[in-house]
Amino acid sequence: MKLYNTLTRQVEEFVPYDVNEVKMYTCGPTVYHYAHIGNLRTYIFEDILERTLNYIGYPVNRVMNITDVGHLSSDSDSGEDKMVKGAQREHKSVLEIAEFYTQAFLQDMDDLHIKRPKTICKATDYIDMYLKIIDVLMEKGYAYQSGGNVYFDVTKLDDYYALTNHKADDMVVGVREGVEEDSCKRNQADFALWFTKSKFEDQELKWDSKYGTGYPGWHIECSGISIANLGEYLDIHCGGVDNIFPHHTNEIAQSEAYLGHKWCNYWCHGEHLNDSTGKMSKSKGEFLTLSLLKEKGYNPLAYRLFCLESHYRKQLVFSYENLDRVASTYEKLVRKVQALQQDTTGELQMDLYQIYQRRFQEALEQDLNTANALTVLYDVLKEDKLNSVTKIALIENFETVLSLGLFKSKETVIDTELEAYIQEKIKERILAKQNKDYALADQIRQELLEQGIVLKDTRAGTLYEIEKR
Ligand code: AMP
Ligand code: ZN
Repeated sequence: MKLYNTLTRQVEEFVPYDVNEVKMYTCGPTVYHYAHIGNLRTYIFEDILERTLNYIGYPVNRVMNITDVGHLSSDSDSGEDKMVKGAQREHKSVLEIAEFYTQAFLQDMDDLHIKRPKTICKATDYIDMYLKIIDVLMEKGYAYQSGGNVYFDVTKLDDYYALTNHKADDMVVGVREGVEEDSCKRNQADFALWFTKSKFEDQELKWDSKYGTGYPGWHIECSGISIANLGEYLDIHCGGVDNIFPHHTNEIAQSEAYLGHKWCNYWCHGEHLNDSTGKMSKSKGEFLTLSLLKEKGYNPLAYRLFCLESHYRKQLVFSYENLDRVASTYEKLVRKVQALQQDTTGELQMDLYQIYQRRFQEALEQDLNTANALTVLYDVLKEDKLNSVTKIALIENFETVLSLGLFKSKETVIDTELEAYIQEKIKERILAKQNKDYALADQIRQELLEQGIVLKDTRAGTLYEIEKR
């Protein structure tokens, strides 16, 4: 298995510490808002990586965090706190919005067939671990207290910038851009491990510590959760490219200073999904969520296919035109596979099966070349020499990685008449609620429920699910 390693800037052979348990850590969402489909592209890439490792025989122990405290909106330590901002926006408590958006995120993962990591941890559950790391960093002289906060001194390390391809001076300028300098720091590249002197007076979540009542910096959370769950030696750490600096750079600094040895061997980063204006954002323009795509009638798995058609290390531009093209490919794929399922005559052609299975695996082993893996799928569907039984067996095998829901019942193909009917009922119900006719609104919900259609009121509007019977 070959993987591109950001740390060495090369494609390398993947060799885990222990072949019986690949230890993988993936940075999770900051639950102050819905994930946008760019964020979800990164989670799809990580899912493909985990499934590929499983496919070639490695059991994976994967951990993901849920950031419910301390993530600042700027990459510097002096930006605004995203969770506090989210709570203010919605006039709710930080814990309420964390809970709401965690559930929304898990729903997105399920809709996209992203396997849930074995362990998902909330940042607020590991405060003791962060403080334990901070104590050791203080003892060893890597951390210092200043102006009420605790900072990591990056000059104590020989190679703080190892993960980035930049010179130290460039990175420091990057950190400073548009951000007030924090006069408490010894060096501007230093980062906060523990805040007490916060400019967020309304910060709700605070914990007592010997450094004062406060809360953790963002970076310490991933080091703490990873080491607590996966131990001192990590095989793979993933995230989007924006995480390389400062987040992952700081994770390496504090983890290795704490442990006293190298921490993680492979650093894998997914490139961004951009919209036509450039970087995808939660604040400008149309906020592209999976719920929005669903509302517009797209099957989430068509978006999964959209992502798999390009390499995870290439930037991808989202447009509805491109998604429409992939959605139509997706529907054709589902129809073809379902048609194949009707014909189950013939014996498995083992020789041919092995040839195609090998080709599929080789594509994935080349740094997750999902586009080539999909080509093998299309070739299988086209190949006249393969009988239906062999085709089905191969596609079932490929589906353990691709997970495109190709074998699902026809419900996955959007039925336009049914869709129009449900949307009409949703409109009637909204009108009933506006007229304060709650009895009618409940009656509409009940009528749909009796037909197996479950309505869900979300911030993105009323969504529905069709129950499998
Ligand atoms: P956040 O919730 O902001 O912490 O981001 C969650 C994940 O999405 C991180 O791994 C980011 O690196 C990644 N990410 C952020 N923006 C994009 C984007 N436009 N395309 C792909 N991944 C992204
Ligand atoms: Zn992280």
